[in-house]
Amino acid sequence: MKFISTRGGVAPQTFEQVVLTGMAPDGGLFVPESLPGFGADEMASWAGLPYTELAFRVMSPFVGDSVPGPELKRIIEASYRDFRHRAIAPLVLSGHNEWILELFHGPTLAFKDFALQFLGHLLDHILEKRGQKVVVMGATSGDTGSAAIEGCRRCQNIDIFILHPHNRVSEVQRRQMTTVAADNIHNIALEGNFDDCQNLVKASFADQSFLPEGRQLVAVNSINWARIMAQIVYYFWAALAVGGPHRPVSFSVPTGNFGDIFAGYLAHRMGLPVRQLIIATNANDILHRCISTNDHSRHQLIHSLSPSMDIMVSSNFERLLFDLYGRDGAAIAALMDDFRATGQLKLEPGALAGARALFDSYRVDDAGTVARIRDEYQASEYLLDPHTAIGVEAGRRCRSDSATPLVCLATAHPAKFPDAVKKAGYPSDPPLPHHMADLFQRQERFSVLADDIGTVQGFIAANIS
Ligand SMILES: *Cc1c(COP(=O)(O)O)cnc(C)c1O
Repeated sequence: MKFISTRGGVAPQTFEQVVLTGMAPDGGLFVPESLPGFGADEMASWAGLPYTELAFRVMSPFVGDSVPGPELKRIIEASYRDFRHRAIAPLVLSGHNEWILELFHGPTLAFKDFALQFLGHLLDHILEKRGQKVVVMGATSGDTGSAAIEGCRRCQNIDIFILHPHNRVSEVQRRQMTTVAADNIHNIALEGNFDDCQNLVKASFADQSFLPEGRQLVAVNSINWARIMAQIVYYFWAALAVGGPHRPVSFSVPTGNFGDIFAGYLAHRMGLPVRQLIIATNANDILHRCISTNDHSRHQLIHSLSPSMDIMVSSNFERLLFDLYGRDGAAIAALMDDFRATGQLKLEPGALAGARALFDSYRVDDAGTVARIRDEYQASEYLLDPHTAIGVEAGRRCRSDSATPLVCLATAHPAKFPDAVKKAGYPSDPPLPHHMADLFQRQERFSVLADDIGTVQGFIAANIS
């Protein structure tokens, strides 16, 4: 299978090239040239498969010959071995014909483990085969950094450097990154804010001359195709468990960069009957404004109780736009140039109608988030994390009919966000799972560096193994 850029300016690339590159050289994002499709009988025959076997069936067509079948199986098995639930992604009944899909049983207690555990193992395999070593560099304000570190901790061919803003990430999140003891893991606490971290990473990708001969940077942020691909699996998994593919299913997804819900869209395009995909946003509501009033304009960032959804612009939305505009790369390039210049984007009527045929959206602010956590706990003693609470609230508000099963994606464990949970009346810090109960006693390792590109790049060059 070949991959093309949403901006049309790159020759088709192989799976391997796409995984190693991240963003396309023309500034666009990679998408498959054509999508594989599954028939209803084939999908029905998958009901009851273990998660890893289902993952193999869903992902194989994308990977093609790049990774031999038995090797892909091994990578998938290794990727989900450290999940602390036998089902890997259990479904909990949470209301009438309504389920919560718990995606937080991985090593860092957030759904990002599904993609980043897989990406780490996949990268290591590709690099081993090529006899190559790379440097993973990224900036984080929370969940991505720890999930990336856990994903790379056993990789022989990767050094990973994650920048976080010094004293500006929550203690649980910082400790999840800084207590992983492995020689290839390097945490940098930058004396600056998250934007400063991101700017340093961007500048380093643009000019990689600070790296030793033969090394290159690899991005593991949410635009990496392999991350999207791994997330498609759990949409099939959940649908098969609640009556699909013989009846359609709806999903509500706490959304930031649009990576998670875009995987649901792909599952639908690959044949899975889906009635609604509900985009749940916090006060950073660019996508809700886009779907509801065709106002995709950039606003100031608002810091919310659901920090992993605090974004101004959702990078993966471009992938959907590409399809909505008939896969016209030139049109997307013009649209995105215009958006960068003006901060505004209005969809053409046909594109907007196309989006609305499948997507609904809802915005939940901090007060609504806290209220949902409180009500849910009072009604059932089920404790939602603030991101999941937004998904549940949006799902109930937007659901078109109660005959269609609704699956709300639970993207994080509540123990990661004690402040929000306590605001909702929970009496103490919610307990961490047992395997992490000693997180606050573990030894931390990180380097505090000045917000200076020479300092940071010098540190990286000096610490590559
Ligand atoms: C990253 C994240 C999200 C947002 O996912 P996107 O793919 O960026 O839309 C939602 N909830 C949690 C807990 C996250 O870590």
